[in-house]
Amino acid sequence: MALSGSDAPVVVWFREDLRLGDHPALAAALARKAPLICLYVFDEESPGLRPLGGASRWWLHHSLKALSAQIEALGGRLDILRGPARKVVLDTMRALEAQAVFWTRRYEAAGIEIDKQIKADLTADETHAESFNGQLLYEPWTIKNKAGEFFRVFTPFWKTCLSTGAPEAPLSAPRKLTAADWPSKGPKRTALKDLRLLPTKPDWSGGIAASWTPGEAGARALLKTFLDEGLQFYAAERDRADKASTSRLSPHIRFGEISPRQIFAAARHAGDAGKASGKDVEKFLSEIGWREFAHHLLFHFPKLATDNFQSRFDNFPWRKPKPADMKAWQTGMTGYPIVDAGMRELWLTGTMHNRVRMIVASFLVKDLMVDWREGEEWFWDTLCDACPANNTASWQWVAGSGADAAPYFRVFNPILQGQKFDPQGTYVRKFVPELAKLPDAWIHHPWEAPDPVLKAAGVSLGKSYPVPMVDHSKARDRALAAFSSLKAAS
Ligand SMILES: Cc1cc2nc3c(=O)[nH]c(=O)nc-3n(C[C@H](O)[C@H](O)[C@H](O)COP(=O)(O)OP(=O)(O)OC[C@H]3O[C@@H](n4cnc5c(N)ncnc54)[C@H](O)[C@@H]3O)c2cc1C
Repeated sequence: MALSGSDAPVVVWFREDLRLGDHPALAAALARKAPLICLYVFDEESPGLRPLGGASRWWLHHSLKALSAQIEALGGRLDILRGPARKVVLDTMRALEAQAVFWTRRYEAAGIEIDKQIKADLTADETHAESFNGQLLYEPWTIKNKAGEFFRVFTPFWKTCLSTGAPEAPLSAPRKLTAADWPSKGPKRTALKDLRLLPTKPDWSGGIAASWTPGEAGARALLKTFLDEGLQFYAAERDRADKASTSRLSPHIRFGEISPRQIFAAARHAGDAGKASGKDVEKFLSEIGWREFAHHLLFHFPKLATDNFQSRFDNFPWRKPKPADMKAWQTGMTGYPIVDAGMRELWLTGTMHNRVRMIVASFLVKDLMVDWREGEEWFWDTLCDACPANNTASWQWVAGSGADAAPYFRVFNPILQGQKFDPQGTYVRKFVPELAKLPDAWIHHPWEAPDPVLKAAGVSLGKSYPVPMVDHSKARDRALAAFSSLKAAS
């Protein structure tokens, strides 16, 4: 049983909400005016939770480091523990004789189940446990179609979201925190470095570290730069791989260093202040809407990471990839420059431009006919923003098996896509430097360049850069034939 009265500590349990601004759970904890425990539990043991990929582990380390410094600067302390969340949270609450715990809701089935169990355990202990929405604009159970079901198509979904009114205004960050003492008989705390989240042998994180500043301050700085410099070009240029017109906020959003409500309010405010047109603002917000859509889908269809949303794809004749083919895709050695640039950007920096994600994913599932789950797994390991909702929904979108998905017969042509979204080859030259000296006319299809052009550019096909691993037009026909067989069968 908890201590009564305002002297008993309150706990805010941080999870994927590693920020102090617009944090309803933290605000509720502070409203109790009691000594505070800021808790983080690194849980690799509870059943059903998907272990983080390598790039996400790197991000988490730095995000926790930043959060810990922020909390300390305000007089508080971040206590990190490791183990199965149900046991760790319960042991902590009991050792502290805490009066209440507050947290931000999550939307994956395994996480929801753990939270339900913890709530039940604490209720039995007569301890207050309360969860809040800090990760989405609208809760998944509040947005329904006329039949009372969840939406399977994005446009009416987003229209319905917006018609329910603007999300609540974001909360401000606290100015001061008062840390409760850690009980001498409390569970053992862990030093951040002992979570061993950083790669060592080898340390592959140099390019990622050079590209990002994890933490709330880094997120806010990126948002400001984007609103000042990128938003005004967003509608026209967001698909251009060679331009810096998107926000790059996704890993910050993924780890909750900035909330969607903060982004929503700031983007609308920038529009009102004349920094960008209404078209740019609404286009940008609709992408936040796609994130929302993916999370709602995950909530209503918990097997999004493993099962085809459209079950007719269960019979699709995926080809088992040869290890060498998978490696060529992963390492950016397919012979298609835009695909290779994207895969190398991913490996080097832990991210990839959205349009290029669509191109490389289409290449894997359609040109190579590899099951989308193999690609999703690679992205899960290598993306800093690897997200249980966005990654799985997007892979299923490209494969054609998802909700509101691209039709299977839409097979991206990597040459035309490169020419359209990287017209001067700037993006390809950056990540595939062995092609840098090729003229623009050949940069997206070097195998068709005349020999003297290749020679002058220092390109030796099959030696300095691979020949295409498949013929795109034949691969396209093969994929379409497979899809027709699926249609016939269903
Ligand atoms: C195969 C594939 C896998 C993907 N995996 C992920 C993933 O694991 N995590 C992830 O956050 N996004 C994923 N995306 C969506 C998208 O590519 C990224 O969100 C986007 O590239 C991030 O860049 P940005 O922050 O500059 O986006 P902006 O264009 O500035 O958009 C702002 C925010 O909106 C959200 N958003 C934008 N586009 C999408 C989209 N298509 N679907 C859902 N949300 C979107 C993101 O939170 C993003 O940060 C994937 C897309 C594809 C095609």
